[in-house]
Amino acid sequence: MGLFLFVVWVYGNTLVLNKLKSTLFYLLMFAILGQIVYFCYMKKIQTLSVYDFMSRFPDEKAAIKFIENKRWEENIICPYCNSHEVVSRPARKGHRCKKCRKDFTVKTGTIFEHSNIKLHKWLYAMYLFVTNRKGISSLQLSKELGMTQKSAWFLLQRLRETGKQSKEMLDNFVEIDEAYIGGKEANKHANKKTPGSQGGANKDIVKGFRDKDGKVKAETIPNIQHLTLKEKINKNITKGAVICTDELKGYNNLSDDYTHLRVNHSAKEFVNGMATTNGIESFWALLKRGYYGTYHHFSTKHLNRYINEFTFRQNEGNCSIDTIDRMTALCKKSVGKSLKYKVLING
Ligand SMILES: [Zn+2]
Repeated sequence: MGLFLFVVWVYGNTLVLNKLKSTLFYLLMFAILGQIVYFCYMKKIQTLSVYDFMSRFPDEKAAIKFIENKRWEENIICPYCNSHEVVSRPARKGHRCKKCRKDFTVKTGTIFEHSNIKLHKWLYAMYLFVTNRKGISSLQLSKELGMTQKSAWFLLQRLRETGKQSKEMLDNFVEIDEAYIGGKEANKHANKKTPGSQGGANKDIVKGFRDKDGKVKAETIPNIQHLTLKEKINKNITKGAVICTDELKGYNNLSDDYTHLRVNHSAKEFVNGMATTNGIESFWALLKRGYYGTYHHFSTKHLNRYINEFTFRQNEGNCSIDTIDRMTALCKKSVGKSLKYKVLING
């Protein structure tokens, strides 16, 4: 208040030098800008405890309402013909389209379709999925939800399908690196060892990209030969971007399409001017913590699904986002996805 009166006095006093006025003006602007930045960036992240979750979503009805709201907001649309002319059928927990006369629920056309599991349980599983940074095992989830481990495993695989990575290209400054996932050859039983192989043999190779905003894309690759790496880079990074890799030979000859910076890890160099791969390596560290701490094993067949789980949490489900917004992101991505058990096992 005092400062405000002083400012009024200064502006009302014609004897005060213009220079002092402009200085005060800039000081005020600086203070206001500071407040704006504080409210934008220092906003406290709203987390949701298990108690909060259960209070907010006490039953099936609350879960359906939340998922419907995230899918359609205020206007329910028929998933068969996209008509807005829809009547609710509360007794059946669903809706009927006046145009095509078909019945549907919020499950229709989503990853939840054909599932007998209540949406309240699905929503709690989604809550656990986005809040456990290292993932949640099917055994643990089966205890949380009161179902068999097999059902919990299938549910988790459908959530991983939901969190599938987009095909969006990365741009600007992108770190590139690869990680090796799987049991060490030295720890295997004698009859399971690969003849002539060393410690790093038979591991799955995962290729990863991370842009300057922290967005990560990753997938398995069969080898680290130049053509394999180049194909993945061209598929994921816009030409003309700045890319940063380590000294691996497979990354040679990429300068025609990209500005290529390198760090020499074998010489213990981790930052070389702008060049670094520390960002993508922090993602590998998290993936490996999930491997060693939660899952203990990723089968080669399903490894990309586990990678989708970790990229989802990195990009849309990380702890700098309100818990409810992480669940919302997962809900929205459930539309248009499906995964049948037969496809999961045989595909
Ligand atoms: Zn319809």
